[in-house]
Formats: sequence, structure tokens, C-alpha cells
Amino acid sequence: MQTNLADFIKNTPEGQEAEAILRSCVHCGFCLATCPTYQLLGDELDSPRGRIYLMKQVMEGQPVTQKTQLHLDRCLTCRACETACPSGVQYGRLIDIGRAIVEKEVPRGVADRVTRYALRRALPDSRVFSSLLKLGPLFRPLLPSALTKSLPKSLPNPNPWPPARHARTMLVLDGCVQPSLAPGINTATARVLDRLGISLIKATDAGCCGAVSYHLNAQKEGLDYMRCNIDAWWPYIEQIDAPVTGPLVEAIVITASGCGVTVKEYGHLLKGDPLYADKAARISALTKDISEVITAEFSHDNKLPIHSPPSAPKQKLSFHSPCTLQHGMQIRGTVEAILLSAGFELALVPDSHLCCGSAGTYSLLQPDLSHQLLTNKVKSLESGQPNQIVTANIGCLSHIQGGTQIPVRHWIEVLDECTHLPHS
Ligand code: SF4
Ligand code: SF4
Repeated sequence: MQTNLADFIKNTPEGQEAEAILRSCVHCGFCLATCPTYQLLGDELDSPRGRIYLMKQVMEGQPVTQKTQLHLDRCLTCRACETACPSGVQYGRLIDIGRAIVEKEVPRGVADRVTRYALRRALPDSRVFSSLLKLGPLFRPLLPSALTKSLPKSLPNPNPWPPARHARTMLVLDGCVQPSLAPGINTATARVLDRLGISLIKATDAGCCGAVSYHLNAQKEGLDYMRCNIDAWWPYIEQIDAPVTGPLVEAIVITASGCGVTVKEYGHLLKGDPLYADKAARISALTKDISEVITAEFSHDNKLPIHSPPSAPKQKLSFHSPCTLQHGMQIRGTVEAILLSAGFELALVPDSHLCCGSAGTYSLLQPDLSHQLLTNKVKSLESGQPNQIVTANIGCLSHIQGGTQIPVRHWIEVLDECTHLPHS
């Protein structure tokens, strides 16, 4: 696509990146059929191609309106369009750049600003989020229904974390909301990896991956969260004058794909920061989704013992692959292969490429569209009559649980259960 970027952006790093992306789009429209908002609304401006055109206009200096902002706000950043695009258009990067410009040009109303600010304060801080969760029953009647449906009715009680006893060690990101909503996920991960001869440890000062702020157009704040995590992890990666003793870590394991896709992009997002660029690139290279870690171990013949009673009927699971896993990180089929090898039966899930409507804070900021996507997703996940629904991201897990009576869990939890030895 021909572009003629305006002076305000032309010679900036963002401008150059955006221009290269805009030029790679050939306007073929192959992405339209996979876009959830285009499917629901049928408006070209709510499709990837339409939004790319809107962002081109913005970057060429044409007037920016609330209508422009609305069409960009309605995008889930699910990146299904990237998977479908034959020209390799990096839509996710483009919309981050486009939204940041629009945010400066179009002032938001007071209510919208307050909501976005509150989300940036409450979600990334695990202490604030956990306190709010404990107060949940008091405030439930005052909270938006999209949020109350996703809150757990009682806090889960995780299994014990195995002691660090192996020479092979990996770090895990605890993140922000997951330790409060589902602490059992990382404990299950530690238990599974322990059986594979790997100790999983946490860096106490690591926290939110930065995605919440970054995708709410507070990019500078998001980058600061990323720098904090790099500082917290670095002593486990390079032990030069570090206070940490013990083996260096082989990998940084992420159990929420929404965080994984972000940490894998630290290198790109911080490449302009002379103090952090090299470290960020190294962190991104070390970052692995838990499914990648287990697949690599299996490929080296490091297997898990499967302990399902022979008489037990096969558990049937519906797997919801989060957009951040299948489109963002382009990891497809790995979780399914692990679950099949552990003896589970997998139900067929129609339209498995479509977003569930959770999309970070989308369910709170665009509740109507989010609810329609949830209804469709639950219908397709329930259609194979599974015993349980499993997924790979805490945001999708909580959101889908708000729409179904079938238990929704992280897939690593069911793998933990079927590989659990009586004495472990
Ligand atoms: S499929 Fe790719 S090249 Fe075609 S219109 Fe969509 S983004 Fe552009
Ligand atoms: S990221 Fe998702 S919602 Fe946004 S344009 Fe692409 S397919 Fe549509």
C-alpha cells in the first residue's frame, strides 16, 4: 500500500515501523473472514483491512475523530488476522502504534478515563487485586456484571510447591491476577516439572508483564513494568555480582499465554532503550510457554508417568486455545498433543480460531461485543459434551467460566492430576 506519512511521525522509530507494516498490506481482504468483530458487525471499518486504512489516514495527518477511536477500541488485538494474512502484515504492532497516536488526539470522556485508570491501578498490582478480590462479596452488587461473573466464588487452595531439589532450574512468572484467581496453576506447573527433573522457582520482585498498561495506551508505564521484571530476573540469568546463589536458569516459563506473548516481545519493545535492549532480547529468547517446555522434554525422551486407573473412563476435554497462544505466539497443536499423549480424549471445537471475548480488559471495556463472543465460544466448547474445558490463559479461563457450568481449568492442572504419584 502506498503511504505518505506526516511529518509528526515520519522520522520516528514508530513511524518507520508503521510505514513498513502499512506497505506490506496489499488490501486483499483474506483477513476479513477470520476477524471476530467483522463477523459480528459486518462493517469494513471493524475489520483488519478497514482499521489498517484508518490508521494509515491517521499517520498521514488526516483528522482523527471519536469514530476512528471507536473502531480501534473495538479491535480485540486477537491477531487472528495475522494468522490469516498471506503478506505477513504485523497488525498487532501496527495497532499498538496507531492507538497511541489516537489516544493523544482524541480526549476520552471522564467515565472512560476513570475506568481505564482504575484498571491500570488494580490489575497489575497483585496485592491490590488480591485485596479487592477478598472484598469481592461486599462489592459484588456494585461491580459490572462482566466482572462479577468472572470472579471466583471462593479462593482455591493450591497443593504444596515442591522444594527446589534439581540441578536443572527454570524461573516462572507469577504475574498479577493469576496468583489470586488461580494459584494452583503455577503450583501444578512446578509439580509437573519436578517430575521431569526440573525445579521451578520464582523471583520475588517480578510482577505484571506490562501488558495491561501497554494495551491500555499507557505504553511508558507498561515498559516500566517490563524493566522491573528484567531487573528481578537478571540475577538468575547472569550471576555477575548478583545476590542470588544457585544454578542459573535455563528458561523463563510462562503459564498465561497473554503474558507469554508480551514477554517474548520485550526485546522488540525495549530495543530503543540502551540500558535494557540487550537484556530484554536475552529475556525474550529465554521465555517459553509451558507447552513448549514440556514438548521439548518429551522430544528428548524425558517422559511423565501417566497414572490414570485402567478402569476409569477416558476424560473428554474441550481445549480453548487462547488467541495469544495460537495467533500471538503461533503455537498450535502442542497442548493438544500433550493431552492426547496423556490419554485424554479431545472434543472437536468448531471455530477454534475465534476469540472468546476476554482479550485482556476488553470484556470490561466492550461488554456487549465480549458477551456475544463468549456466548458463541461457550456453545462451541460445549458442543462436544466434554467433562471439562481447559485453556492456557487465566483471562480466558475466568471469562469462559462466567458463561458455563462445566469446570474450566488450565490444561497443566489436569496433566498434574494424571501424572501425580501417590507419594509426590
Ligand atoms: S490479509 Fe493481510 S494483506 Fe490482505 S488485507 Fe488483510 S492485512 Fe492486508
Ligand atoms: S486483531 Fe482480531 S479483532 Fe482486531 S482486526 Fe485483527 S482479527 Fe479483527
